Formats: sequence, structure tokens, C-alpha cells
Amino acid sequence: MTDYNSPTDRLLDWYHSHKRSLPFRESGDPYLIWVSEIMLQQTRVDQMLPYYRRFVEAFPTVHYLARADQQEVLRLWEGLGYYSRARNLHSAAKVVVSDYGGKLPETADELQKLKGIGPYTSAAIASIAFNQPCPVVDGNVQRVLARYHGLDGDLRKRDTQKHIESAAAEMISRRHPGDFNQAIMELGATICTPKNPSCTLCPLAGECVAFKTARTDEVPYKSPAKKRPHHEIGIGIIRDDYHRLLIAKRPEDAMLGGLWEFPGGKQKVGESIEETVARELREELGVDVLVEQPFMQLKHAYSHFSIRMRAYFCRITSGTPRPVSSTEIKWVRADELGDYPFPKANRKLTEALQNQLLI
Ligand code: SF4
Repeated sequence: MTDYNSPTDRLLDWYHSHKRSLPFRESGDPYLIWVSEIMLQQTRVDQMLPYYRRFVEAFPTVHYLARADQQEVLRLWEGLGYYSRARNLHSAAKVVVSDYGGKLPETADELQKLKGIGPYTSAAIASIAFNQPCPVVDGNVQRVLARYHGLDGDLRKRDTQKHIESAAAEMISRRHPGDFNQAIMELGATICTPKNPSCTLCPLAGECVAFKTARTDEVPYKSPAKKRPHHEIGIGIIRDDYHRLLIAKRPEDAMLGGLWEFPGGKQKVGESIEETVARELREELGVDVLVEQPFMQLKHAYSHFSIRMRAYFCRITSGTPRPVSSTEIKWVRADELGDYPFPKANRKLTEALQNQLLI
């Protein structure tokens, strides 16, 4: 029977009657829970759902994923960002099949031996898929618990984070840890929202310090983030005599590793953007080029920096292109660009090129 005196049980009770219906929650399948948790890192549920559906349709089990070609995995991940998540998930799937007989390990410690699974994700999988009492603390949980306990500390400080982690460990349900973790995350996402929380609908309102002291707009406190650096990027678009375009594959261990791009890079101090393009193409492909007319420019914001990308049509004046700093280069027709995984900013470029070159 539900004990209505316990905030934990009240939270669980609220969750069972209010939870959103999500495909991975209903499944109970550890593989699907794993995929969903990796996709949910840095991404909201409504953003990840279409990707999740496409991904598990293509790779319904860990065996399908382990057998897949990496380019196919990256192509399905394209647009979701943080591509190391896809590469790590793919290589961990191979390990699950080869070393664990296709079954995901059940404990948080063992799960953390797999690529891409850190403390947060291992706790989420272990609790949701295997009912292990591992508390999960994401941004939503931090906000709920900071308000519930009236914690003033800066959320960016490790001390405050530890305090919240202890509070989560104390509050977690021993009988239903997976449901508890999902309940508190759901409460943060739908009721205890950053602005104007719906406290009158909240199952924790009776004890919540921030609510009782009318400080929900002050708690939690997070000091301002550092300003993101900005980079100017010069890009070269090279066509051959057959109107094919030169694209390069980024090294596996680089940011956006395994994805394709048009060669180019960051502008250095004192360089014109045309000089940047010529230098980058010399360094990346071992060719000298004439930087001809500009094609387009666009801005893009990554999590830790922003860029303005300026792309120019270029003509090779000496040398034969080779993959000096990339793993592979290819000449492709404009109508084939969609077959290759590109980062978001480069994808805008491929679409603009297709619009211009395929009419
Ligand atoms: S009472 Fe309000 S502030 Fe407190 S946990 Fe609930 S929604 Fe958040």
C-alpha cells in the first residue's frame, strides 16, 4: 500500500498517474533504454524522439547495431549533434556482443567499462533496466532537490553538486529505484520547471523549502557561464572536370570524428579569410589553390564555441589532393552528398550546393 507520509512514495504515486508515455520506458528492454539514455544526453525528449524511432527501427537489437557500418550509424545520428555519442554507442555495442554475449551488464560499475557510459548514464540504465538503487542526478533533479531542500549553493560548484547527490541517494526508493529516478526527472521537466514552477500541483510541496519560503525564483542559483569563444572558418569547395566535389572525412578522434566536411579551418590572426582557405587546403590536402568567388556564409553555435563559416569556390593550381590531415577524401556528385553524414553547418552548405548545382 502507498505510504502517503513519505515524499518518495508520493512522488512515485504522482509519476504513475502523470508520466508521459515514451516508447523506451514502456519497453523495459535494456538495449532500448541504453540507446535512449545516450540520445538524451544534452538533448531534450521531444528533439530526440524522431531520431530514436529511426535509429531503433534500423537497429532494433544490439546485434543489428554491432553489425552496422559506422557511416550508417552516423548518418542516422546526423542532426542530433555530439557525434562521439554515436561512435561510442556503436563500438560499445560490438563489445556487448563479443564480450557479454549480447546482454548489457547489470551494474553501474560494469556498465561504466563500456565506451560512452559515464556515472550518470550507468546509474540511469542500472536503475531503469535492472532495478539497481543508483540515484540519477541531471539538471532537472538538481533543480528539484535544490528547491526541495532550499539549497543556496552555486550549481556549478562541486560542493553543491555533492550535496544534491547525497540528497538523491537518501531519497531514492529502494523498491522502485528506476521509477523513482524517472519520476524526479519528470517532475523537474514538467512541474518544477526553471521558471514559474507549478508548485500547487507538486507532490513534494508539503515539505519543499523553496516553495514554503517563496524562493522558487532564487533557488537554485547558477553563476553565469563563461562567454563562448568565436571562430571565423574558411572553407574551400573544389570541383573537378566532371563537376564532382571534393569532401574529406574527419579523423575518428577529432570533434565530429567520422563525419564528412568540405576542407577548411580556423582563420589565424593577421590572415584574410581567402588566405585561410588557401593555407588550410595546402595543409589538409597538399595542394595550392586559387580562391575564386565566395559561395555562402553561415553562422553556427556549438555547445562551447560559435563559428562563422565562409565558403569559397577554389581551383587547384598545383598538386594532387590527398588526405593529409583527414582519414579519407572523395570526389562526389552534388546529388550524392546526402549519402554521407555531415555536421549540421556543413549540411547547410551541401543543401545550398545541391540547390545551385542541380538545377
Ligand atoms: S513545490 Fe514547487 S519548487 Fe518545490 S519541488 Fe515542487 S514544483 Fe519544485
